[in-house]
Amino acid sequence: MTLAGAKSDCLFCRVAAGEIPSTKVIETDDVLAFRDINPGAPQHVLVIPKHHVADSVADLRVADEGIAGLWASLLSVVQQVADSSPEFADGWRLVTNVGENGGQSVFHLHLHVLAGRRLTWPPG
Ligand code: AMP
Ligand code: ZN
Repeated sequence: MTLAGAKSDCLFCRVAAGEIPSTKVIETDDVLAFRDINPGAPQHVLVIPKHHVADSVADLRVADEGIAGLWASLLSVVQQVADSSPEFADGWRLVTNVGENGGQSVFHLHLHVLAGRRLTWPPG
């Protein structure tokens, strides 16, 4: 894990840099929450570290420097997202996909926050 740097060929690095437009929900110094372009629920927000710290959670190690702070920052923004609309009042889901079998399509660490309808379990 590296806490610095952007990958010029990474979609979410370009979103974080403002090169690709997004509908922002929450922005802090190091984390951005924006609406998924193809929402799977009435509320579908993606929460990303602005820097390309990892391709997915599979690339993170608990011993990595700065990881506690990174997760605290991400969780804080997730909770702010959950407070951003009454549609979260009846429950919501936090998901991160890893690799092909996990259904991952963008390889920049991100969390999905979904709400606004009864979500099925297990997911498809
Ligand atoms: P995943 O499949 O877990 O890697 O999630 C990637 C998500 O990014 C998908 O839900 C896509 O709909 C979403 N997505 C792709 N491009 C954009 C974009 N330009 N702005 C917002 N969301 C996007
Ligand atoms: Zn990236």
